[in-house]
Amino acid sequence: MIYTLKIITKSRTDLIDITHEIQSTVTKSNIKNGLCVLYVPHTTAGMFINENADPSVRADISKMLDRLIPWKADYQHIEGNSAAHIKSILTGSSIYVIIDNGKLILGTWQGIFFAEFDGPRERTIKIKILEG
Ligand code: ZN
Repeated sequence: MIYTLKIITKSRTDLIDITHEIQSTVTKSNIKNGLCVLYVPHTTAGMFINENADPSVRADISKMLDRLIPWKADYQHIEGNSAAHIKSILTGSSIYVIIDNGKLILGTWQGIFFAEFDGPRERTIKIKILEG
């Protein structure tokens, strides 16, 4: 079974903590030990694991990605969103988290983030939970 999580993003760059939603999906699956595979089927969004305790970390990540990959530059892509495509490559499109006794194994300060780079839009994340 593949679960689909819908995400509404609110701005061009929007880094959204989805840890709670992913844990809820794992709990719903009733799989106690295994692997949670998360996949973003979009070319201008991504995902990453990083600190979710201090919100200024995500603000800094957003600011520095904008500085590294400015929205306007000498891009060829006619749609005008090459910066978002490049940021998507940097964050990646998938994450794997081990499930132990029904819980995602994450460090104390870690959270799972969906990374919007060309919002606002309605997005999806595909979730596959493997037992083992
Ligand atoms: Zn494009």
